[in-house]
Amino acid sequence: MNKSIYMDHAATTYTKPEVLEEMIPYFTTYFGNPSSIYTLARETKKAIDVARDKIAKAINANENEIFFTGGGSEADNWAIKGIASAYKQKGNHIITTTIEHHAVLHTCEYLAKNGYEITYLPVDEYGLINIKDLENAITDKTILVSIMFANNEIGTIEPIKEIGALCRSKKILFHTDAVQAVGHIPVDVKEMNIDLLSIAAHKFYGPKGVGALYVKKGIKIDNLIHGGGQERNRRAGTENVAGIVGFGKAIELATKNMEENNKKLVYLRDKLMNGLLEIPHTRLNGPRGENRLPGNSNICFRFIEGESILLMLDANGIAGSSGSACTSGSLDPSHVLLAIGLEHEIAHGSLRLSLGDETTEEEVDFVLKTVPGIIQRLRDMSPLYDDYLKKGEK
Ligand SMILES: *Cc1c(COP(=O)(O)O)cnc(C)c1O
Repeated sequence: MNKSIYMDHAATTYTKPEVLEEMIPYFTTYFGNPSSIYTLARETKKAIDVARDKIAKAINANENEIFFTGGGSEADNWAIKGIASAYKQKGNHIITTTIEHHAVLHTCEYLAKNGYEITYLPVDEYGLINIKDLENAITDKTILVSIMFANNEIGTIEPIKEIGALCRSKKILFHTDAVQAVGHIPVDVKEMNIDLLSIAAHKFYGPKGVGALYVKKGIKIDNLIHGGGQERNRRAGTENVAGIVGFGKAIELATKNMEENNKKLVYLRDKLMNGLLEIPHTRLNGPRGENRLPGNSNICFRFIEGESILLMLDANGIAGSSGSACTSGSLDPSHVLLAIGLEHEIAHGSLRLSLGDETTEEEVDFVLKTVPGIIQRLRDMSPLYDDYLKKGEK
């Protein structure tokens, strides 16, 4: 079988043909610089405004609260560094979690080297933060809470509405990295009291290298990128017009079909998850049910390495991940799996398969037919498994 099965949608998605089709004229016909004043430029400026409007609608924001960036990482960096800098007179304390994406974690580590205090909230065995821990961590020096909407590795959806309500009542700004959530599950910045929110188009069938930061009206934030006056003086640089147009189209499509898509995804995901868990010595990472992203499955296989599972899956035409794309190639186990309490040895054997719009039941069945043999072959070569068979459980 030389079919190829893509199950790494949490890392990135393809760009939908309808999205690409809307983008193409902005490379060729409408290439004017939106900052110029002739007719050609007015077309591009208008296209950006239309996209901005679609993005605002999708998260229940106003269009003047949306600022385009070069993707999710830039939005996270901007939110955290921009607030840290703008509010440094008020305080130097930031609260985040141990399971954030590196775009948030490494930004916080950078700030810690520059005089800021960072609290990393722990999570429970399912990856959920405890709202009481958050409340207890807040001090009179706290200027920002940054907690991800949904986790990219284990699919945990955090109690965002409760977090937003608490931060609002304590008058502390709340940023959420919603890169895995927007376009996949309902997000409402007003109802959830969100002050800043990061988005990336390529996680929901838009192009790579374009994203946005939502900044609630009236919030002071310093710039990350200095230069020209684009994005109402908040983010310099000639706009990625075609990318922004694609972003707008992609978010429109994703929001329109969300409920229907998710029903299908949850069915396929549960079939995949439950099937894989029938293999002995496995464990599910992340929660079941409502608190899990519809397309995410993440399972640990004891006695073997995630990397070797990936290579053998690849040989069978299946693309998966052992955690986040950014840590692949490093030998450390995932910080998220360690944070939910797994031992190193078990955390090493993780496999994330993330499903998408075009995933079929046949693909899930093929994976379920293929994986048990791979796991058995790897275990047959594993000294850890050999030890286990000889000594049994200690
Ligand atoms: C993918 C991802 C990012 C980074 O977004 P880029 O557009 O790749 O910079 C940040 N946070 C989360 C949760 C992600 O899944």
